[in-house]
Amino acid sequence: MIFRQLFDPETSTYTYLLADETTREAVLIDPVREHSERDATLVRELGLALRFTLETHVHADHITGADALREKLGSRAGVGAAAGVGCADLALADGAAVRVGGLELRAIATPGHTSGCTTYTCAAAGMAFTGDALLIRGCGRTDFQQGDARTLFRSVRERILTLPDATLLYPGHDYRGRTVTTVAEEKRWNPRLGLARSEDDFVAIMAALKLDYPRRMDESVPANLRCGTGPMPALRAPAVANLVAGQAGRQDVEVDFGAGI
Ligand code: FE
Repeated sequence: MIFRQLFDPETSTYTYLLADETTREAVLIDPVREHSERDATLVRELGLALRFTLETHVHADHITGADALREKLGSRAGVGAAAGVGCADLALADGAAVRVGGLELRAIATPGHTSGCTTYTCAAAGMAFTGDALLIRGCGRTDFQQGDARTLFRSVRERILTLPDATLLYPGHDYRGRTVTTVAEEKRWNPRLGLARSEDDFVAIMAALKLDYPRRMDESVPANLRCGTGPMPALRAPAVANLVAGQAGRQDVEVDFGAGI
């Protein structure tokens, strides 16, 4: 399998490229619109055919590259069915398989950060792409977009941390330069969702966060409900600096730096 992890430094968003080495068919998970040319170039340079872009959820901090890549490379846009994204070519129900060549990904509904959050598992490679449901030593926020802490707790504990211990977990973001974790690590060390925490602990932790309103939410969510079509928003500001500044008053800043928007 061909695998690449790509990064947007402004929103600390990861994009993942997976491809079948033999058939050269590929899928991109969570492409960012501003990087669609970068991603298309890599796909071409590796001699790949991009079949699908897959969203882990309707993002509130960046606009998806799904439509731009559909235009450039003819890919089809896949989103979890519960996200209710009408422009998607594939509305992926819980358990749906996405096949590109010999590579099989499975869509697992993991709501709680948003109602339509989907984790993509690749069992053969021992990998899962968790979006913002589970971040490295953290998780996405649960205070907007139909977020719900109890729902997220159950999704993570019952559907992600029940995967084999050695499963490599690739998050939607990381704000501290980490790239990958494992089920075993998060069970032991995740300060919110590790096995030492109860559901009520988690609800209390999330209720106490008091996070800032996401700077790009008002432009990102409507655009992502259109698969990333529409005019390009105004110049991007230095988001990482703002995000860090916005976290200054948080008590758990030592254990979870990022907001997981
Ligand atoms: Fe998010």
